[in-house]
Amino acid sequence: MALRSRAAVGVNGFGTIGRRVAWAASQQRDMEVVGVVKTKPDYAAMQAASAGLPLYVPGEREAEAFRRAGLEVRGALRDLLKEVDVIVDATPDGVGATYAKAYSEAGVRAIFQGGEEASVAKVSFSALCNYDEAVGKESVRVVSCNTTGLLRSICALNSAIGVKSVNAFLVRRAADLQEVKRGPVNAIVLNPARVPSHHAGDVRSVLPWLEISTAAVVVPTTLMHVHYVNVRLRGAATREEVIEALRASPRVLVVSSSRSGVESTAQLIDAARHVRPRGDIPELVVFEESVSVRGEEASFIQAVHQESIVVPENVDAIRASLGMADAEESVRATNEALGIGRLPGLAGSPSAKG
Ligand code: NAD
Repeated sequence: MALRSRAAVGVNGFGTIGRRVAWAASQQRDMEVVGVVKTKPDYAAMQAASAGLPLYVPGEREAEAFRRAGLEVRGALRDLLKEVDVIVDATPDGVGATYAKAYSEAGVRAIFQGGEEASVAKVSFSALCNYDEAVGKESVRVVSCNTTGLLRSICALNSAIGVKSVNAFLVRRAADLQEVKRGPVNAIVLNPARVPSHHAGDVRSVLPWLEISTAAVVVPTTLMHVHYVNVRLRGAATREEVIEALRASPRVLVVSSSRSGVESTAQLIDAARHVRPRGDIPELVVFEESVSVRGEEASFIQAVHQESIVVPENVDAIRASLGMADAEESVRATNEALGIGRLPGLAGSPSAKG
């Protein structure tokens, strides 16, 4: 399939994910961001305006506050929907579902996020697992950051070796930077206090055949999530084969702690800050020395940058829903435009083997 002409993209909800998806879509040769929807004329709205992104509001009611703040408003969401081929909904958990009817009635493709129930869209999506299932679909849900992280390593191992079952323990970050009222400040909170956590079901929204259990806790950090993943493979493998399967994935960075000196999420983000916009790490990071294999059982520790891991998935979901490219073309185009797969000093470059 050849890449078709530029897709007109709108973004509803301009927070942690929406701002990044708007930026990422604007970096693609085959996409144009024609507007973003903001509820308040705050610093993010001012930055959108200064970046030349046309501002829209959910309904006319919100426009007055923007005008008072000296910000031009192009119209309401319903006006933006007339201008786009696809709308990326990055509103808070559960809010996206309230817009589903409006998107469908406007006849635009809709990309939802993992905070929505799986039933909000025709398909739950992870580019390297089930891109083809989303091709031509009127609505696609990009699964959550933790689920995307789990699916990255599971699908890499499944296509190279085969996966029977998975057990994972998730250590989740408490909040994103601007979420100043969230905690915990001084606790490790079971999230939830039962097993499995909802992440297992979310992984199965993409891989319904997989036997998987997950447990999760929340800890006081904003930087990244960390997972301990235990995978039963479909046959014995060597440690080298498992590392090679992970390294071969275009959205996994296998990072050697002994070569890079990185043994924490803080060092990962510090390294990224010097070479990446916003210090984002949209790749899944697997710590090389944590990979252990005994016969059919592989285990490893991985880190997920919650603010950015779903961003390339949204870009691919746009192409899939509009039938603009096949999986390989889309992943390659997204990765090239966003510099994914190379993080100097850590992985994917001559200065860091692997
Ligand atoms: P956020 O709170 O940072 O951003 C949401 C934005 O939507 C805010 O700017 C808010 O003002 C705006 N908004 C609120 N109500 C609105 C409405 N009615 N109409 C339009 N805009 C409205 O949230 P986020 O972290 O970017 O999360 C968005 C979605 O992405 C959620 O489904 C979430 O579960 C998912 N997600 C979040 C993360 C993460 O770590 N932050 C990772 C992966 C997926």
